[in-house]
Amino acid sequence: MHELAKKTDLCVQCGLCLPHCPTYAKTQNENESPRGRLALIQAWANKDLPNSEKLQSHIDNCLLCRSCEKVCPTQVPYGEIVDDFRNAIYSKKPSSLNLTLLKQIVHHKKINHAAQALLKRYQSSVLQNTARLFKLPQLLKLDKIERLISNKKNSNHYLIAQDFYPAVAEVKGDVGLFSGCMGALFDQETIHSAIRLLNIAGFNVHHPNSQTCCGALDLHSGDKKTATHLEHINLQAFANHDWTAIISIASGCGSQLQDYKNKKIANKTIDISQFLINQKLASMSFTPLDSSVILHTPCSLKNSMQQEQGALNLVKQIPDIKIKSISSNIHCCGSAGSYMLQHPKMAESLADDLINQVIADNETPEYLLTSNIGCALHISARCRERHIELEVIHPVTLLARQLTK
Ligand code: SF4
Ligand code: SF4
Repeated sequence: MHELAKKTDLCVQCGLCLPHCPTYAKTQNENESPRGRLALIQAWANKDLPNSEKLQSHIDNCLLCRSCEKVCPTQVPYGEIVDDFRNAIYSKKPSSLNLTLLKQIVHHKKINHAAQALLKRYQSSVLQNTARLFKLPQLLKLDKIERLISNKKNSNHYLIAQDFYPAVAEVKGDVGLFSGCMGALFDQETIHSAIRLLNIAGFNVHHPNSQTCCGALDLHSGDKKTATHLEHINLQAFANHDWTAIISIASGCGSQLQDYKNKKIANKTIDISQFLINQKLASMSFTPLDSSVILHTPCSLKNSMQQEQGALNLVKQIPDIKIKSISSNIHCCGSAGSYMLQHPKMAESLADDLINQVIADNETPEYLLTSNIGCALHISARCRERHIELEVIHPVTLLARQLTK
């Protein structure tokens, strides 16, 4: 409590973070702002404010997008403070069915594999349409997770079963690939594309089967014990090798790996786009694409990893492509790990702000590119709900589709 109070003391209450906070922008309530939340946590840590549902809800409503942290002049470690607070008040009270199911899938490899098989069947038959027609997901209270499942089956027919993929050009080095539990479940095309591009760039790719969830979901919901356990499993999988880099294909996971206490992993973790663009890509050529794409930068890539230029520079390699960016006054998309399951109204409203801007000029682009699977699933689901045709994919997926060899 004393440590937590000390960290909150760093806030000088200047308010510079306020215009960058999505929940403050939506509510205009100081308790829903970074400065307000810090004051609440400080009062609780100093025993001036009792723990209550109301206090917890103000902190729970935070997306942990860390936009506030990025602009803070006194470098208040906002994300760390919220994680510590949630851990201190963490109780094993049952979470929603959607979140419980998600945690089972991300924590247990066998359940994840079973879910992958089930998902393929669900998408490749009339099952999904029938289930939606009869509102089965709502009746089973699984609608918040079911809405994330696309009705296209093509992103999951890639087989990623090996733990080693050799370079197909002159070997420049070895890298470890952290694919993330949600990517394995929902977007195997991105994993396949990343391996293909890295192999062509001259890198042997190690994809350890023993890797597990990065732990972000647990850490941000207050369960530091489980997060530390998962971190330990990933250390076993990645830390004892002399690999050039650990490549992340989901910035939500990448930012978590960079926050690991073990510096062997933290310092070597890099976003796939940033890594590829650093390699100059001389061994690759791409077929032109006469389409417009909109580039979405996830908060975790921008505010935590601070590697947002990589994706833009990578996509620019495709001849003729027209790239638009999302304006800086659009905040977080609302996915934020499990936030979209627990705060659906705020999550939908934030996604709508983003989508409204994408379609504002009457010329909806063909693709929205984003480097985080959580953002991709949420934006894509919201587009389907609004009957907007927009394919949401990872930048490396588009690049791999345009490879000429
Ligand atoms: S910008 Fe930093 S110091 Fe200023 S109010 Fe926000 S958290 Fe506090
Ligand atoms: S992390 Fe994001 S949502 Fe939370 S207080 Fe900071 S800016 Fe607001």
